[in-house]
Amino acid sequence: MITRRKTKEIFVGDIGIGGEHPISVQSMTTTKTSDVDGTLGQIYELAQNGADIVRVTCNNIDAAKGLVSICKRSPVPIIADIHYQYKLALGAVEAGVDGLRLNPGNIRDEKKIKEVAIACRDSNIPIRIGVNAGSLDKDLLKKYGEATPESLVESALTELRYLEDVDFNNIKISVKHSNVNSMIDSYRLLADKVDYPLHLGVTEAGPLPGGLIKSVAGISSLLKEGIGDTIRLSLTADPVEEAKYGRQLLEYLELRDRKNLDLIACPSCGRAEVDVIDVASKAQAALEKEGFPLQVAVMGCVVNGPGEARSADLGIAAGKGRGHLFIKGEVVKVVEESEMVNALIEEGRLLSEQGVEARLAAADKNASKIAEEDVKFLLNNQGDINNLNIKKKTVTEIISNEDIDEENI
Ligand code: SF4
Repeated sequence: MITRRKTKEIFVGDIGIGGEHPISVQSMTTTKTSDVDGTLGQIYELAQNGADIVRVTCNNIDAAKGLVSICKRSPVPIIADIHYQYKLALGAVEAGVDGLRLNPGNIRDEKKIKEVAIACRDSNIPIRIGVNAGSLDKDLLKKYGEATPESLVESALTELRYLEDVDFNNIKISVKHSNVNSMIDSYRLLADKVDYPLHLGVTEAGPLPGGLIKSVAGISSLLKEGIGDTIRLSLTADPVEEAKYGRQLLEYLELRDRKNLDLIACPSCGRAEVDVIDVASKAQAALEKEGFPLQVAVMGCVVNGPGEARSADLGIAAGKGRGHLFIKGEVVKVVEESEMVNALIEEGRLLSEQGVEARLAAADKNASKIAEEDVKFLLNNQGDINNLNIKKKTVTEIISNEDIDEENI
């Protein structure tokens, strides 16, 4: 159970951030914003894959003009990303965006920043103060020698003061760093100083899988401490991956309701009765297509499988050329090994439609008896099922099956 830090509440379009609102997922388009149809196509794809909010760059006049149509037709709130040119921020507000991201490192003129804040205040649009270690204000870089957590937070607080000076409080803040430990320290420091909602991210995290590992390490460390109200995984990959993994991360931390499949599988071992990697990847591909919001387990053997995956909604464990299909740890059907994936799909569909109680009540009455016999057989034949061919003969001479205490295997 995570106790979240108390923050002010803001709205980006209809998405609440901070307060009691669920943690939201953000991503950013990679298209030219002036290409309205291409950008909208990507926004729709991102929304379908878990993005609650999408950011687009507003880097020139054509991009600002494109925003007029994009904001009208987008299925999710749009944030304009602004660097250097404060006039583009004013243009984006006029175009109808739901939020701005300003980089204090490259829009440094207090008067211009205040002008943007007043425009946002009058249009009721939030601003993210988006500090980034890679583009830190050059005076702060000089003062601190490098982009330290203290320097990032100082940059954010200076910008915050400018905004508050003109009575603007519709704010969220990010202090992103590409070093995971510095990123965590920066947000911790900031969280102690302000009660505005925080946007979490490891900047320039890089391609998969390293970028994903860094992002998850930084973001989830903070989320577990209750810090963070909206997240973005900055991956050098198709942004759909950012949205998908961001959403999954929140679901795995139980910070968002499950909308997607959670496929768990044992790592396999010498007891495995089936190629677990192959069955798990086939099951994942097939079940993802179906879109069941279930936790589904693929376990390599019936000896430990159903017990170890007891918490899963649905699962299958391999044994003696067959698959034991189980719901919440109870075997409901025994199928041929070749039918394991199909059985998961069929039962997944029925389980989603009818619920756990109904599907347990509809269990094959002989299933648990057959399952018990398979388990017993395998326990009595461990020497035969493991891949220990060379020494097997000698070992079985030393240890007979009668010596094995079944209770303690
Ligand atoms: S479920 Fe069976 S095959 Fe999979 S790791 Fe556990 S003991 Fe090994």
